[in-house]
Amino acid sequence: MLVKVRHIIVMTMIGLFIGMIFMGSKPVNAQSYIDELDDNWVQPVDGEITDTFGTRNGNHKGIDIAAPEGEKIVSVSDGEVTKSYYSNTYGHVVFVEHPEGYETVYAHLSTRMVEEGDMVKRGQTLGIIGNTGVSTGTHLHFELHEGEWTYDKSHALDPLFVFDLSNSTVHAEHDHKTIDQESIQKVQDSTEVKQKSVQTKVHSTSIDKSLNEQQEKNQQKKVITVREGDTLWGLSQNYKVTIKSLLEWNTLDSDVIYPGQELKVYLNNEKSYVVKAGDTLQSIAKEFSMDPEAIKKANRLSNELLHPQQVLLISKNE
Ligand SMILES: [Zn+2]
Repeated sequence: MLVKVRHIIVMTMIGLFIGMIFMGSKPVNAQSYIDELDDNWVQPVDGEITDTFGTRNGNHKGIDIAAPEGEKIVSVSDGEVTKSYYSNTYGHVVFVEHPEGYETVYAHLSTRMVEEGDMVKRGQTLGIIGNTGVSTGTHLHFELHEGEWTYDKSHALDPLFVFDLSNSTVHAEHDHKTIDQESIQKVQDSTEVKQKSVQTKVHSTSIDKSLNEQQEKNQQKKVITVREGDTLWGLSQNYKVTIKSLLEWNTLDSDVIYPGQELKVYLNNEKSYVVKAGDTLQSIAKEFSMDPEAIKKANRLSNELLHPQQVLLISKNE
C-alpha cells in the first residue's frame, strides 16, 4: 500500500515536472518577431512613454516617447532612409527601411539629420526630438511596420513587443469613456510574452486630455476616381481637404491628375475650413481660437494671402 502511494506521488511529481517544462517554453504566437529583433535593435530614445499603441479608437499606430528637448533620435537598426521630409501631421519625419523586413517611422522631430537614400547604422542619429506637426509637447512618435509603411498603417506593429523599455513608464488612458482595454492588455501581454522584468507601470489616471478629444474623430478612407474636368483644387473643396494633403496621401509630385486615376482621400482626418470672401488669417484664427502663425505654419503659407474657397487645414487627427 505504501509503495503504491509512493508510486503515485512520484508519478505526480514527474507529471508536474513535464508540465512545468511545457509551460516554461515560449508561447508560439504572432509576436514571435520579438525574438529576432529585441536583441539586435536599440531604442530610438530613452524617455517616458506617454501613449501606447492602439489608443485613440485604434488610430494611434505607434508609441509616444517624451524626452527632454535636444535629445537625439537614433535608428533602431541598420537600414536605408526611404523618406525624410516635412509632413503636416508628422512634422519633420524620417522613415527607415530595415533589411529584416520592417520600416520604422520617427515623427515630430525638430531637426532631421539624414536624407532620403542615406544608409544608416543602428544607433545612428537621425535627428533631434521636437514638437513639429500635430503634436502637443516635445516627444517622439515612433511607428514600426511589417514590410512597408502604408497610409492606412495596416501593417503597424506594437513597438512595445520589440523593446525592453525597462527604464520607461507607461502612461495609459484609464477612463471609462475613453479606456482602451485592448491597448493596455497588449502592454501587459507584451510584458508576459517577453518574460523579462519590464517595469511597466500602467497609471490609472488620464494624462493627456487633448488626446481624448482627438480620439473622437475616426478617420475614414475613401478612394475616388478622377472624372473629366476634375482638378485637385476642385476635389480639395468637395472633400474639404487641403491640396497639400491630397498630394501627400497619393504621393503626387505635381497637381496634374487624369480621368480614371484613383485617389485616396481621408475624410475626418483633419479639421478644415473653407475660406469665405472677406476672411483674413486673423479672423479665421480668432474663430478657432488659434494663433494665426500656427495656421500659417500648418498650411505652409508663405504669405497671408487667402483665396475664397481655399481649404485651410486647422488641425489633424494624428
Ligand atoms: Zn503618437
